[in-house]
Amino acid sequence: MALPPIVQAGDPVLRAAAAAVPPDYLGGREFRALVQAMVAVMRAAPGVGLAAPQIGVGLQVIVLEDTEALMAKLSPSERAARGRAPFPLRIIVNPTLTRREGGRATFFEGCLSVRGYMALVERDLEVEVTGLDERGAPVTWQARGWPARILQHEVDHLRGTLYVDRMLSRTFSCNEEVSGRWFDRPIDEVRAALEADRER
Ligand code: ZN
Repeated sequence: MALPPIVQAGDPVLRAAAAAVPPDYLGGREFRALVQAMVAVMRAAPGVGLAAPQIGVGLQVIVLEDTEALMAKLSPSERAARGRAPFPLRIIVNPTLTRREGGRATFFEGCLSVRGYMALVERDLEVEVTGLDERGAPVTWQARGWPARILQHEVDHLRGTLYVDRMLSRTFSCNEEVSGRWFDRPIDEVRAALEADRER
């Protein structure tokens, strides 16, 4: 199966609200092919999440998965700080996100549709998502830490929002600068260096 390309920022499909998946479409052959393509694209990238608009399909479908291999470069303390731990594949259709009272967290975040860059983004630490699974059964997931960040990022895609709309804009950085310079530094230090001398 040839994988569809990942749509890049500038394509209006990333800026449009995705449509709810109709009940009679769920579980059909076309829908199953869409989900299969999304999972394959996410894993090939590799990434921890993908929304249907990122392969040019304006429907409310997200897929998420995190694995040991994807976090291999993180130390135990970096994993703990991010609340990052492997979780199995999740497919969520027509998701609704609710904030929970868990505070906020700021970390570098990137997007497969904004290739080559990362920035600090403040997100809710805890969210609850409700929606349907790939068979149309209701699902609820209370997520905390990195899975909660991925959920917020992917549900944003379904509303036409990219992380660059929420980032601390002065921290927008090339991937090479983040990995070479900032990745293991405290967030306060990154902010002090990149947000210094900001014009008021
Ligand atoms: Zn993204």
